[in-house]
Amino acid sequence: MKAVCWMGTEKMTVETVPDPTILNPRDAIVRITSTCICGSDLHLYNGLMPTMEQGDIMGHEFMGEVVEIGGGVDRQKLKVGDRVVVPFTIACGRCFFCQQQLWSCCDNSNPNYWIAEKMMGYSPSGLFGYTHMLGGYAGGQAQYARVPFADVGPIKIENGIGRISTHADANRLKQVFLNLSLNAFRAMPPGGKLGVKLGWAPQFPGGLVQIDFRDEGRGLAPELLDRIYEPGFTTTPGSPGLGLAVCKKVIEQHGGEIRVKSKPQQGSTFSVYLPVSGANV
Ligand SMILES: [Zn+2]
Ligand SMILES: [Zn+2]
Repeated sequence: MKAVCWMGTEKMTVETVPDPTILNPRDAIVRITSTCICGSDLHLYNGLMPTMEQGDIMGHEFMGEVVEIGGGVDRQKLKVGDRVVVPFTIACGRCFFCQQQLWSCCDNSNPNYWIAEKMMGYSPSGLFGYTHMLGGYAGGQAQYARVPFADVGPIKIENGIGRISTHADANRLKQVFLNLSLNAFRAMPPGGKLGVKLGWAPQFPGGLVQIDFRDEGRGLAPELLDRIYEPGFTTTPGSPGLGLAVCKKVIEQHGGEIRVKSKPQQGSTFSVYLPVSGANV
């Protein structure tokens, strides 16, 4: 398979490496459909974190489809064909810490705990794609990954949520999502939470991809809702007020639309709808 490998400080390359195999009864092999680059990968890239070795496979958050499971995996919880999101902490589910749902402190998933103890005083759990002192587990920036204790960590995505995609200009959509996120943060006091939800809106003919941005901010008065997409309209002093006008234009150019639900003092939800297409984003 192909995998992103750490080859030295500031040196990462895509290499062909052996496919992972089941090593322990509670392992699963996941065929990865999406993965991400995390901010903490930078600590590996720039050499801040010790105990990386040349050829280590990067990536500690990923999702995909279970293609193989070991004999000890609880079939009630996980089976071949399940789609899963895999968190970066590896947890046994049975130790003192796991019993209290303190997964990142699992006592059984870091075989190299003694290095971590030497360096940090205590050892956390093993982590995917994150140094040998945290277990030396191959990560998920690859086509496949071995997931230990697979009936504990992976979060199953229930059937019925199919893979949906839309055909779009990724850079322009990024601008839209950034604008909507920035607006949400501007509307909230520090520490406010922005919720982003991706889904499928079946109520439209053919269905639409729906992406919601929900904030807990000051909301918008009903009489303003018709005006927010006008160029120059803003509720933020000093802002040119182009954000939502641009968002609307970009989304309409993609054959979609944007809608807002808002209540004063309770927050706003901006929903972006885009046509579903067979092609990948
Ligand atoms: Zn991360
Ligand atoms: Zn544990």
